Amino acid sequence: MANENNFQDIIAHCKEYGYIFPSSEIYDGLSAVYDYGQNGVQLKKNIRDQWWKSMTQLQDNIVGIDAAIFMHPLTWKASGHVDNFSDPMIDNKDSQKRYRVDHLIEGHAEKLEQEGRKEEARALLAKMDSLLAKDDFPALKELILSNGIVCAVSGTANWSDIRQFNLMFQTQIGSVSGEADTIYLRPETAQGIFVNFLNVQKTGRMKIPFGIAQTGKAFRNEIVARQFIFRMREFEQMEMQFFVRPGTELDWYAHWKAERKKWHESIGIPADKLRYHDHVKLAHYANAAVDIEYEFPFGFKELEGIHSRTDYDLKQHQGLSKKKMQYYDNDLDENGKPYGNYIPYVVETSVGLDRLFLAVVSMSYKEEKWQKEDGTEDSRVVMRIPPKLAPYKLAILPLVKKDGLPEIARDLMHECKEFFHTFYEEKDSIGKRYRRMDAIGTPYCVTVDHQTKEDHTVTIRDRDNMTQERIHLNEVIQKIREAIK
Ligand code: ATP
Repeated sequence: MANENNFQDIIAHCKEYGYIFPSSEIYDGLSAVYDYGQNGVQLKKNIRDQWWKSMTQLQDNIVGIDAAIFMHPLTWKASGHVDNFSDPMIDNKDSQKRYRVDHLIEGHAEKLEQEGRKEEARALLAKMDSLLAKDDFPALKELILSNGIVCAVSGTANWSDIRQFNLMFQTQIGSVSGEADTIYLRPETAQGIFVNFLNVQKTGRMKIPFGIAQTGKAFRNEIVARQFIFRMREFEQMEMQFFVRPGTELDWYAHWKAERKKWHESIGIPADKLRYHDHVKLAHYANAAVDIEYEFPFGFKELEGIHSRTDYDLKQHQGLSKKKMQYYDNDLDENGKPYGNYIPYVVETSVGLDRLFLAVVSMSYKEEKWQKEDGTEDSRVVMRIPPKLAPYKLAILPLVKKDGLPEIARDLMHECKEFFHTFYEEKDSIGKRYRRMDAIGTPYCVTVDHQTKEDHTVTIRDRDNMTQERIHLNEVIQKIREAIK
């Protein structure tokens, strides 16, 4: 497992190379809110595009939508978020610090594990899971006390009782204050899909099983927002709801569980950095749920959730809106009769774009050292981002700023821009420019030198193995396109 120090280096690197900045930094930032810089926004877009393509373009029966962030407040009553979207939390009376109960206990279990007390850690987590499943708050508090768990700030065990804390942000809609209605910033994108289920089904003439995909912002007032972009108050989700015939949902659940892990591997995440974690405590809407976890620098944590959501959401919306949420299935059952009207069951895949971004950045960040031929040491920081995700695919570097080399380089850049993101740089020594491109994660650099003027060849340098070869100017575009296919 990578260590926390390395994580601090990754955070600093993200800032230094235009990937991620703290939000409104000149005012000392805003807790758990971040801005994506010039390179970050491009990496994020490339990840989102891969997901969108795999979910829509490459499927026969999944279409996309883009629903508004604001929704009718009854949406959140129907979905259960008004009543249930809360985490048990506990306050330390001395430090006034608030903790999520599961985080507090998990933190203690991690400590036990580091001390080699693995069995105790496992037993503690098992006990916590079973008490959380029963919402037994007095027993959970007793568990915290009997394990001597103290606040990291005050060092005391002077704990409040455990209470539920709703994570939805509220705001007002309407221009006249007295008439204003409380509405919520959506805590998940899924409900925008549920309320549009029949619009899409009818206008798209969709036949079950079919899916609706969406990417967009979600907002949660997280009690403990920490670990950089892992847990943010404003973040982006990529969700797909797959509508199926009742009784087939667990087969589809198994299908998407396998597909989604394969997809993460297909974008370059090593299989040994991914694992499944089946839920013990199921959410109020689910009859099966699993997390795909990634090994972040701070351990294995949830990257994506796959949930069999039953017909809970559509049924709830039908109940509250009084609008039918049924589908007519004219396929025939084993008795030769049409399946007829029913509320479909739903299997959901839900991945956090920011968490996926963090996974890509943490697996790509490498500090490398090696011995040169003359025996001295050399080093670099390189982001080994898979080429198809990298913000820039190619950097074009004239060796010197004269003798007509910048002109050739700029002509090449203009040709390349049509096909992929290309970076142009003529400042500093060529070695320094290579290092900068390594740090940004640009997979290829082309250098235009004096020989280019004679035979129209350039050197192309591979970021990962630092080898260089000479190729004809005409071959550059093809070579890069092959690499990012
Ligand atoms: P966690 O247990 O970590 O709070 P969750 O189980 O509440 O996550 P879901 O409701 O299943 O998360 O949301 C689906 C996905 O959205 C998660 O797998 C995660 O990638 C992402 N996500 C959820 N909350 C946040 C957040 N606060 N910041 C960034 N991404 C998030």
